[in-house]
Amino acid sequence: MATLEKDIKATPSAYRTKIIFLLITLIIFLFLGYLFILNTWKVAISKTENDAVMFAQAVEAGINSNVQAAINLDASSSRYLEIKDILSHIVRQAEDIRFAYIYVQKEGEIYILADSEPIGSADYSPSGQLYKEAEQAFYTPFEEGKTMITGPVSDRWGKWISVLVPIKDSDTNKVISVLGMDYPVLTWYEEAVNRTILASFFVICAIIILIVLLLSLGRNKELRHEKKKLQKISEKLKESESLFSTVFDQANIGIAVVHDYQFTSSENMNLPRMNPMFEKIMGRSQEELSSISWPDITHPDDLALDLKNFENFKNGLTNGYDMEKRFVRPDGSSVWVHMMISPLKLRGFPENCHLCLIEDIGKRKELERTLYDSERSKAVFLDNLPGMMYRCYFDKDWTMQYVSHGFYALTGYKPESILYNRDLSFNELILPKYRDKLWDKWQAAIKEKGTMEEEYEIVTASGEVKWVWEQGQGVYDDEGNAKMLEGLILDITQRKHNEIRLKYLSERDPLTDMCNLRLFEEIFSYKNRINKKSAVVMVNVRRFGIVNSTFGYRFGIKLIQDIGKCLQTLAGEDCPLFHISIDRFVFYVTEYSSKQDLYELCDNVIKVLNTCITQKTINFNIGVIENDSYPYSDVDNVLKNVSVASDHVSTNERFGYCFFNKEMEDTVQREIAIRHALTAAVYEGNDDCLFMEYQPIYNFKTNSISGFEALARFKNDDLGIISPAEFIPIAESSQLILPLGEKIMRHVFVFAQRLSSAGYGAASVSFNISAIQLLNDVFLDDLENLIQTTKADPRNLILEITESVFSDNYKEINEKINKIRKLGMKISIDDFGTGYSSLARERELNINFLKIDKYFIDSLLSENTSKSVTCDIISMAHKLGHDVIAEGVEHEIQKEYLCRNHCDMIQGYLISKPLDEDGAIKILQKND
Ligand code: C2E
Ligand code: CA
Ligand code: CA
Repeated sequence: MATLEKDIKATPSAYRTKIIFLLITLIIFLFLGYLFILNTWKVAISKTENDAVMFAQAVEAGINSNVQAAINLDASSSRYLEIKDILSHIVRQAEDIRFAYIYVQKEGEIYILADSEPIGSADYSPSGQLYKEAEQAFYTPFEEGKTMITGPVSDRWGKWISVLVPIKDSDTNKVISVLGMDYPVLTWYEEAVNRTILASFFVICAIIILIVLLLSLGRNKELRHEKKKLQKISEKLKESESLFSTVFDQANIGIAVVHDYQFTSSENMNLPRMNPMFEKIMGRSQEELSSISWPDITHPDDLALDLKNFENFKNGLTNGYDMEKRFVRPDGSSVWVHMMISPLKLRGFPENCHLCLIEDIGKRKELERTLYDSERSKAVFLDNLPGMMYRCYFDKDWTMQYVSHGFYALTGYKPESILYNRDLSFNELILPKYRDKLWDKWQAAIKEKGTMEEEYEIVTASGEVKWVWEQGQGVYDDEGNAKMLEGLILDITQRKHNEIRLKYLSERDPLTDMCNLRLFEEIFSYKNRINKKSAVVMVNVRRFGIVNSTFGYRFGIKLIQDIGKCLQTLAGEDCPLFHISIDRFVFYVTEYSSKQDLYELCDNVIKVLNTCITQKTINFNIGVIENDSYPYSDVDNVLKNVSVASDHVSTNERFGYCFFNKEMEDTVQREIAIRHALTAAVYEGNDDCLFMEYQPIYNFKTNSISGFEALARFKNDDLGIISPAEFIPIAESSQLILPLGEKIMRHVFVFAQRLSSAGYGAASVSFNISAIQLLNDVFLDDLENLIQTTKADPRNLILEITESVFSDNYKEINEKINKIRKLGMKISIDDFGTGYSSLARERELNINFLKIDKYFIDSLLSENTSKSVTCDIISMAHKLGHDVIAEGVEHEIQKEYLCRNHCDMIQGYLISKPLDEDGAIKILQKND
């Protein structure tokens, strides 16, 4: 386009150049023509002069002698006449010569000697007549002796050009007279004029031809140039046409030419009337639209305004208008458009046409609506927020620039009172103890451009203290500096109170309302990092399970509560007390100067317990561990080690304490070694280390061995034979018990099958199951699987489960037991009386046997209350339909007591120590 304009603009200067060129050429030609004419003139004149001179000289030559002779003659002399005759003849012959004459100079005057006029004619000058009018030029030939031509001379006869030839005396060469021939001026120049006219005509013709030529040449050039320009313009036009149609066709804006109220179609026009985008936005084709007037498809709500705008536009009050409106699509939906109306006055378009541009703003409108909705929800949210939103400066006053309405409900202060710290700053509301922390947290959050979250307390206008939760973040400028802070402050007083209550509950033992294990762990983990010198003193009720069974559950609870109260008297800020499990209390000594302080504490513990707990059957173990002698970090390790220490207390005395020491550390090391050996046995297939022994069980009814208890054994090159009492708890603590238990069960099932094959199909095999195994999801599948693969008879298999298993998951365990019973196996409660349950609960269990713990059997040897407990257990168990097995029977006296009290079966060294498989079969054979 720009080039096109440039071309067009360039034309006048080219035109001017051309004109100048033409003018210059013309001027040159005119000048040359003038020179040519001038030359023609000069040549013609000079030819006339030459001819005249030559003619005159020729005549002079002819008459020279006559004149010499006649110079002094009178008019009548023949010579005179002869001369006169010649002159007349010349005039007659040469048409252009009017007069011929000969004159002489005498005493400065010119006198006619002879002329061509007939004697007596009007113009005749007689010989000797004075020629008065003679011009100066007539004297010149006498002076210079040369032929000459005068300029036009006027006399009484007219205007003449005279050729004057001196006639010289042949002897003296002196000019004696002059021959003059007068040519009328007109005649004289006639030839020259004719020639000049001819030349001029020629020149004019040439110039005309030249002009024509130049013009046509210029015209041609111009035409060529024009053509080129046209070509260029048409190319440009094509380009801009294609650009136009591209823009028109592909424009993101709908474009349409509208005639009054009617959309127009381009049927009979080459000009486009509507672009595809227009059709797309409207959801109608050009053909459809051409039969519709726009008010028909304008949304009713927008019609009035549109019509008003259009009227103003039509009446020339406005030069166009734009508005946001809706058009209705054929499917009834509306499309939001931004419409621009502008006048259109173009050739090829009828009057009253205008241009309608529409832009689909559906998305924007949608966004606007979403924004509106979100603003509204924000307002609703803010109105109902149990707190406030804020924007403040990042300064120590937290200078508020904005707070939401909720500020009043939260603090009891009017929002305007806090804005820009008018009456008070937000910092003044915060309890002083939180102020620095909050500032530090905000600084850290700003540094990381992260979020700040904190809970703290504020004081309201009424003096009430409220817990709030704040979450916010910085608003940063382009340099990344925090300009403002924005966030939310919520009232969490209720939640906090609940939380505090919950925390309190979670940190307390429900029985004693004392700090529990959880809190100990928390405080220990925190303080252990700070305190270099600290110690844990564990007070442990020895064999609490048995106390429970002996004196009852209620007694047990009361006992623990009493112990707690007694011990609490020794607790202090540097020596808090925790009730970490039913029968264990722990002092966490964080300030002491020497070991002596710890001894004193232990002695004090013994002293208070001695006074509080009067039952002499209740014994205590005290373990002590210091963190500087055995560095530790992990709370589990500390508790385990202090338990190890307490377990080392001799059982002979009622009270005893023991410090964790090197030997115990070795025990711990041994535990690690056993764990490694077990891992190797389980995962690396060192199967030989694990084997079984079977301890016979004697049945009073049949007076024979009715079965065996399978007892696992573990043998290691370095550690020797390890008791299950040692390795089973280690396996349990490391989940090794699952694969290990599976291996043991396989041995047992195979042995049971071997017994059947050997003809002892009635002999039962009991095996011990740890709680972890029982609770494992796949345990039942494992049992079924083993029954199938080993072909053992499930009716001969008895699972021994310790009582403690039921303390936590009573319901779940009972369900499992029922499923095991369904498989055909039997269940025995092992170590009965040592755990935490009572016979009352056993009633609900679907079990077959009760195995009275060795403690009660041992007690049969002495005279104490447990003796009667043993026989009570037997009778109670029978009432509940369970058979009773007594274990650890070593003496005949025990056997007799048990037999007398209707115990069903006994097991112990008195009958037999645990045997290998062959030994077990042999004892059955002996039985027979
Ligand atoms: P437990 O189930 O109470 O097994 C009886 C324990 O008492 C066995 O010790 C046995 O050898 C021992 N014993 C039997 N008669 C007498 C006696 O007259 N006097 C004395 N002083 N002891 C006697 P062991 O074999 O060392 O087993 C200890 C504990 O290890 C078992 O106690 C049992 O709870 C556990 N245990 C043994 N084998 C397995 C097993 O395969 N799986 C699981 N989970 N635990 C097992
Ligand atoms: Ca057992
Ligand atoms: Ca037992």
